[in-house]
Amino acid sequence: MRIMLLGAPGAGKGTQAKILSEKYNIPHISTGDIFRYNIKNETELGKKAKEYIEKGLLVPDELTVKIVEERLKEDDCRSGFILDGFPRTIPQAEELDRILLQRGTGIDIVVNIFVKDEEIVQRLSGRRVCLKCGRNYHVKYNPAASEGKCGECGGRIVQRDDDKEETVIERLKTYHRQTEPLIDYYEKKGLLYTVEGKEKIEDTTGEVLRTVEEAAQKHGI
Ligand code: ADP
Ligand code: ZN
Repeated sequence: MRIMLLGAPGAGKGTQAKILSEKYNIPHISTGDIFRYNIKNETELGKKAKEYIEKGLLVPDELTVKIVEERLKEDDCRSGFILDGFPRTIPQAEELDRILLQRGTGIDIVVNIFVKDEEIVQRLSGRRVCLKCGRNYHVKYNPAASEGKCGECGGRIVQRDDDKEETVIERLKTYHRQTEPLIDYYEKKGLLYTVEGKEKIEDTTGEVLRTVEEAAQKHGI
């Protein structure tokens, strides 16, 4: 299954993508995670991406598309994948269509996780992330059992630089301006399913899984 998750920053795409990835045994491809990994390891790509990310801006399309194109060539993507945070602009979506069409495939299902702006700001400012495995936590909604330590891998839990309030506001503006038009784009293709991002992770997961199963049946996947 080739699944795409859409939604504002902090809507819970990463969390749900990890769950779907385990359930369907297909890779979770997060451009944000790829950029963060490169920033941490101080690669050329990391240096370039950092300039944009810390301002709440998008990394240029050309660079981003190239990374995803390479990632999709890997063997583990053959039976499907979950895209999280890509595409984020119309040109990226068009490039993705081209890449997949070349191989005679396409996206099967787009799940849009909807969360109101006010709630996004609350969620992101309380979000924490494991430095080692990337799992997300929230100080209030989803705290780690032992403070500052990841329950999954024991890694250190920190606040992401771009989760500071000023950057969060910029990221939301960027989302509305550049990413939201994708909702229409996929709606027109008949691939879009919208679920409401709930406060409790498992409630959103229930909705997402139900939607994916329903869409899979409908499209005979
Ligand atoms: P979130 O969904 O919480 O904003 P991500 O981890 O998906 O977080 O992305 C973090 C940052 O990485 C974004 O704010 C953006 O600067 C950059 N980024 C991620 N994916 C893309 C993309 N597809 N195109 C351009 N920039 C991206
Ligand atoms: Zn961890």
